[in-house]
Amino acid sequence: MSKDNAIIARILQGDRRALARLISRIENDGRAATDTLAALYPHTGRAHIVGVTGAPGTGKSTLVNELAKSYRARNVQVGIVAVDPSSPFSGGALLGDRIRMRDLSGDPGVFIRSMASRGNLGGLARATSDVVKVLDAAGYETVLVETVGAGQSEVEIARTAHTTLVIEAPGMGDDVQAIKAGVMEIADILVVNKADREGAERTRQILQAMLELGLKPGYGQESKHGARHHSQNQDENRSVTVPAQRWKPIICSTIALQGQGVPELMQAISDHYRYLQESGRWAERERIRAANELDHLLRERLIAHMLQRIGPQRLKETVNRIVARDVDVHTAASDLLAQAGLTSAPS
Ligand code: GDP
Repeated sequence: MSKDNAIIARILQGDRRALARLISRIENDGRAATDTLAALYPHTGRAHIVGVTGAPGTGKSTLVNELAKSYRARNVQVGIVAVDPSSPFSGGALLGDRIRMRDLSGDPGVFIRSMASRGNLGGLARATSDVVKVLDAAGYETVLVETVGAGQSEVEIARTAHTTLVIEAPGMGDDVQAIKAGVMEIADILVVNKADREGAERTRQILQAMLELGLKPGYGQESKHGARHHSQNQDENRSVTVPAQRWKPIICSTIALQGQGVPELMQAISDHYRYLQESGRWAERERIRAANELDHLLRERLIAHMLQRIGPQRLKETVNRIVARDVDVHTAASDLLAQAGLTSAPS
């Protein structure tokens, strides 16, 4: 058996040391693990990937810890990937330890890994997606992907999930501002954590109102109008009533510190899983994910390839010519593409 085959066999058996080593390789240099990832890929596609995102301090780590305990109580193997796009530290430094410190250490059914950006968000999103695939292949049935913050970077990483939880908490500043529209859009389940705190009910009401106002395009609005319209058409054609196929985001209240509301949250997650399976949206999300990943990779490789062909010297000279007003930027780009053997698209 070749060295690579041995590693693959160990990963498929859930060998933790082999897993940790492969993940480090993915983090250090995505290309170094390409062959192993290719061999593992046919063994993926079983895990339910659950994204957990929200502003710092809302209680994500505490909640992820509680969710992991609940899954373990059901004998489900859980992988946790804690991603911090703003932190340069990695390899189990901050986030990972915060979770590990709680009651999960020593349980062989849980694998925790933290990842940080090292200044390259695109790289982090891809590495996260690769690490999730490795955990999937290793037999982790649920993979919780926790991301810090509530900005565009988290939205990007959350796209790798089947089910996305957005965590809110009362008293995090201006209620409505804290709930960024982009983050609302990705939420399948909204969680108002710290329900023991004053203002929790108000936060819940604001979220509810936002959902009802249809501030979540493609969900709130369409579940009321689009889906009903669809049913009527079906009625006319076949005299059957088709249930609305749109998911309406669920709002859950939790007190993560005490584990309160966690069974209801677990139920909401499994309801969403069932919905994805029964409605055909699971396959649709897989397609969207695959298309996104392919798109990103192609762009990245194409640009790297092109820059290599052009060479740094010619690129520098072109910049100088643009600055000297010898050539405008559009013409310069077309010229460089043509010189690299890629004619630019007609403008
Ligand atoms: P994260 O930054 O979103 O991961 O948040 P943490 O899980 O680290 O929690 C931030 C702080 O809030 C910690 O001090 C937790 O103990 C506390 N916390 C978490 N959940 C709750 C809760 O339900 N109620 C209250 N009162 N505090 C909580």
